[in-house]
Amino acid sequence: MKKGAWTEQAACRGTDTEIFFPATPAEEAEALSICASCPVRAQCLGYAVRNRETYGIWGGTTPEQRRRMRRERAA
Ligand code: SF4
Repeated sequence: MKKGAWTEQAACRGTDTEIFFPATPAEEAEALSICASCPVRAQCLGYAVRNRETYGIWGGTTPEQRRRMRRERAA
């Protein structure tokens, strides 16, 4: 699915994308810190929730946080 023009403003653009699929807590923290200053965080999170992205850091959230958001929405 096409993500949209917002990706051009992504703070993670040009960074090591592997940290957004973190293997260690340190990588996860690094990815989340990049997301924290991203101007398109809301669009990124919306994309991930709509498309049920199961893996990786999207919009400053972990997969578990997004699962919780979906459960809360469904309730
Ligand atoms: S919120 Fe994070 S993963 Fe999403 S575009 Fe911004 S920096 Fe990348």
